[in-house]
Amino acid sequence: MKLPFAESYKTKMVESIRRSTREEREKWIQEANYNLFNLKSNQVFIDLLTDSGTGAMSDKQWSEMMLGDESYAGASSYSKMKNAISEITGFPYFLPTHQGRAAENVLFSTIIKAGDIVPGNSHFDTTKGHIEFRKASAVDCTIDEAFDTTLDHPFKGDINLEKLEGVLKSNPKEKIPLIIVTVTCNSSGGQPVSMKNMKAVSQLAKKYDIPVFFDSARFAENAYFIKIREDGYRDKSIREIVLEMFSYADGMTMSSKKDAIVNMGGFIGFRDKGLFEKATMYNILFEGYISYGGMSGRDMNALAQGLYEGTEFNYLETRIGQVAYLGQKLKDFGIPVQYPFGGHAIFVDAKRFLPQLPKEQLVAQTLAVELYLEGGVRGVEIGTLLADRDPETGENRYPELELMRLAIPRRVYSDNHMDFIAAALFNVFERKEQITKGLKIVEEAPILRHFTVKLEKV
Ligand SMILES: *Cc1c(COP(=O)(O)O)cnc(C)c1O
Repeated sequence: MKLPFAESYKTKMVESIRRSTREEREKWIQEANYNLFNLKSNQVFIDLLTDSGTGAMSDKQWSEMMLGDESYAGASSYSKMKNAISEITGFPYFLPTHQGRAAENVLFSTIIKAGDIVPGNSHFDTTKGHIEFRKASAVDCTIDEAFDTTLDHPFKGDINLEKLEGVLKSNPKEKIPLIIVTVTCNSSGGQPVSMKNMKAVSQLAKKYDIPVFFDSARFAENAYFIKIREDGYRDKSIREIVLEMFSYADGMTMSSKKDAIVNMGGFIGFRDKGLFEKATMYNILFEGYISYGGMSGRDMNALAQGLYEGTEFNYLETRIGQVAYLGQKLKDFGIPVQYPFGGHAIFVDAKRFLPQLPKEQLVAQTLAVELYLEGGVRGVEIGTLLADRDPETGENRYPELELMRLAIPRRVYSDNHMDFIAAALFNVFERKEQITKGLKIVEEAPILRHFTVKLEKV
C-alpha cells in the first residue's frame, strides 16, 4: 500500500478550545452587532480570521526565546537575525521593525513623495494605505486572469508586463520610486508569482532604472508553488528557489507574522548600502535603534529560527497541503471557491453562494455570520465592508468580488478541524435558499470601517 501523507511535526503543547451551542452563538453575534471582529476569542471554536501572527511556534523557537540577548546594542540576537536573513534571502543589509506595515512606513518615508506612482500586483491594503497616506498612488498591474475565481491559472499573482511597461514609459523616472511585487499576492487570494515573471519584471525595471522591492510576507509559500508548478524547479530546494527569487529584487519588506511563523515582527532587507543608511534614520525615529527596531532580543531569535523552519519543504508541503485539503472538500461539495487554491486561505465566492441577496445587503458578511452561527467558525469578509465608501462621493463601493476568506493559521489546526469547517459550510450551503435577508449598517467609521462597524439584520 502506498503510504499516505502525514504531518511533518507532532504536538508538544495544546490549548483547549470549546464548542458552543447555537443558542449561545445567536446571543453572542447579536451582542457583537454581527461584526465578527467584536467576538471574544472564547466565543469562537475554530478561528480563521487571519493567518497573521496566529501560528504555533516550534520547540526550537521557544528555546530560542530563552536565549534572547536583550542588550541595547550589539546583541547576539541581532546577529542571529542578520545571519538568517542574509543566508535565506541574500540581502546583506536589514533593519528590524515591529511588523510588516512598520517596514513599509520606514521604507516609504525614505523613498516615496507626494505625486509618486508605485506600480505592483494588487498591493496589500496596508501597503496601499502607506502609499496613499503620502499622497502617492498605487497602480495595479496584476494579470486579468487573477480576477476570475473559476479560471485555472498556475500564477495568478503575476504582473502584466505590458501594463507595467505602460506605466514606466508614460511617467518620468523621478515619479516612480519603486515597483512592489507581492509574493504571494495576498489581495488576489494568496496567489503565487512565477519565477519567470519576477525575472521579467526585474529586467524591465533595470531598463527603466527603477528599484524592485518584494512585499514578502509569504515568500516561502510562493517558492513552494514555484517548485511544484513551474518548469525547471522541481529538483531545486526551497532555499535555492528563495535565493533566486530575491536575486531579482533590490530589497524586501517582511511581515514575519506570516512565513517566519512568529506572533509579532518584521524587517526590511536591502542590497544597496546607501539606501539602507538613508532608511536607518527613519527606523530609529519610528521603530527603535537599528539593532532591535521594535523587537525584543528573544523575538529576533524566534524570528531567525522561524525563517529556517518556514523554508523547509516538509513544513510547506504540510501547510499548503492542508489549505488545499479544505479547498478540495468545499469544491467537492459544489461550494463556489476561488481556484486554484491559495497558499494561506480559501476564498468562498459569496455572490455565487447567495445569488438571491442584493449587494446592498453585505453578501459576504452575511455568509460569514451564517458560518459562525452554524459551527462557531470565524472567517472574514473581503467585500463591501472592507472596500469602504468612496472618499469623494461618500457612496458605498461595491467590489467585483464578494469573498469570505478562511485563513488557516500555521501548524495550529488538524485536518479534523478542516473536516469540521467543511461540514459546517456544507450545512449552510444546504439551507442557502432560506437565507433571504442579509445585513445592513447601523453605525460606521469613516475609514477602515470593517473593524468597528455595527450591523443589524435587514
Ligand atoms: C500582513 C501583510 C502586510 C502587513 O504586515 P503586518 O505585519 O500585518 O503589519 C503587508 N503585506 C502583506 C502582503 C501582508 O500579507
